[in-house]
Amino acid sequence: MAIKNFEVIIVGAGVSGAALAYELARYTDINSIGIIEKYEDIATLNSCGTSNSQTIHVGDIETNYTLEKASITKRTAKMVEKYCLQHHYQNEIIFSHQKMALGVGEKEVEFLLHRYEEFSELFPYLEVWDKEKLKELEPRVVFDENGKERPERIVGIGTIGQWTTVDFGKMSKSLIENAKKEEDTEVELFLNTQVLDIEKSKKRGYVVKTENDTYYADFVVVDAGAHSLFLAHQMGFGLELGCLPVAGSFYMTNQKLLNGKVYMIQNPKLPFAALHGDPDVLADGNTRFGPTALMLPKLERYKPGTYMDFWKTLRFDGKIATALWKLLKESDIRSYIFRNFLFEIPFLNKRLFLKDARKIVPGLKLDEFEYAKGFGGIRPQVLDKDKQKLMLGEASIFTGEGLIFNMTPSPGATSCLGNAERDLKYIVQYLGKNFDKDRFNDELTEGEYCALPEPIASQKAMVNLIRAEIARTEEKYMENVVHGKPDDDFWDKPSSKLK
Ligand SMILES: Cc1cc2nc3c(=O)[nH]c(=O)nc-3n(C[C@H](O)[C@H](O)[C@H](O)COP(=O)(O)OP(=O)(O)OC[C@H]3O[C@@H](n4cnc5c(N)ncnc54)[C@H](O)[C@@H]3O)c2cc1C
Repeated sequence: MAIKNFEVIIVGAGVSGAALAYELARYTDINSIGIIEKYEDIATLNSCGTSNSQTIHVGDIETNYTLEKASITKRTAKMVEKYCLQHHYQNEIIFSHQKMALGVGEKEVEFLLHRYEEFSELFPYLEVWDKEKLKELEPRVVFDENGKERPERIVGIGTIGQWTTVDFGKMSKSLIENAKKEEDTEVELFLNTQVLDIEKSKKRGYVVKTENDTYYADFVVVDAGAHSLFLAHQMGFGLELGCLPVAGSFYMTNQKLLNGKVYMIQNPKLPFAALHGDPDVLADGNTRFGPTALMLPKLERYKPGTYMDFWKTLRFDGKIATALWKLLKESDIRSYIFRNFLFEIPFLNKRLFLKDARKIVPGLKLDEFEYAKGFGGIRPQVLDKDKQKLMLGEASIFTGEGLIFNMTPSPGATSCLGNAERDLKYIVQYLGKNFDKDRFNDELTEGEYCALPEPIASQKAMVNLIRAEIARTEEKYMENVVHGKPDDDFWDKPSSKLK
């Protein structure tokens, strides 16, 4: 049995662990880092390129992000971009596609125009695309299978020329390779090594136990996805949290239907990403639709076992039952969950999915796409037992004793370098080490890479034109309008006003 000592041990070699190893090696004077990964390679779970949507979630087209959240994700998303450009990974790890949020029907169009006005200061590169412009940019979004224009009003709020897409699997590998290149730091990666237990050492730091070896570290960060909470519970931390694994699957077309990313508007009541179509960088740019959202009683997709780990990590009790009940009480969520369950049933799934995907591509045909076997992953959504509700986004347990556990559902890959920065600051403070903040800011956080397109004023003129056209149509058909009670005031407000 070998014994190894490190200043910092990172459990998990997905994109979160890899980003932390890179930042610690390059921007601090920490001398030794051990990365322990249970599988045979880096990023075989959720960070793998086929597991996630490959999107840099900036907050510009993600309609469920508040302005506040978007300003945070914009910064961390830029870090991914800057990292990739600094190492010249263009068209190898990072890719540029046009992208847009698509509004279909008048409510959604007005919602998007409103959102555009509110967010355009934060994202001055955003443009407003009417149907005519969309015919040019994304013809399959406008025309049906007979070449006829779709009847509904549509608008796209989007951009061309930004970095939009990342193979997060390759990025994880590059982060660890680059960390290893840092001369003053020893970075060791242990593959096929599952951490079974972490214990407080009697002398200092922690003892990290695996089947064959024992490792010692002054500080341990657990970036093990859903298993972070599993290991935390084992040590008595985070007992007020439970993990709800939500699997996401995809459907792949047999050709390139879309030129860029097309995101639908997200209903904020639904905690999981809205359906979108993306050019898949690992499938010759063929369009990948998804992800779906299905609750699965296991912590890892396409890997054997982890059913028992699920039950242990859920920590099912009355509070969890209430949290789940509250979730299912919402009719939107109930029908969404049921529908997503049907998306996994062979034969039925394609037909049902077709209906949803046709909101993006109205002329989509059954023989144009297939269930993408082997694609998709699991989002470890965290349930707060005390508040009896599902926490949206990422969750961390800072024990205050040289130990951190991170759970990272979407957009965890985009925020990998931002999350690592947060952990790095804590680690250097705890260990009394130094952080080269200037170099960090210079390399990862400053500067714009994409030129701004048309001036905002002309875009606003486009907004007003579309509004005027809607007003004219409304006037014309006023007599036929049936006034009903709006069931949801969401569409009348920009998402940032929803708390
Ligand atoms: C369907 C879907 C779509 C998504 N789309 C996007 C997107 O477009 N953009 C975005 O930013 N994010 C997206 N995400 C989220 C993103 O994929 C994750 O947030 C991110 O990959 C998490 O990285 P991670 O390193 O924290 O976890 P993981 O990638 O899950 O890595 C955890 C690692 O820990 C290892 N491990 C676990 N237990 C142990 C143990 N006991 N000992 C040793 N090692 C262990 C695992 O083997 C694994 O390698 C998506 C997720 C899903 C499921």
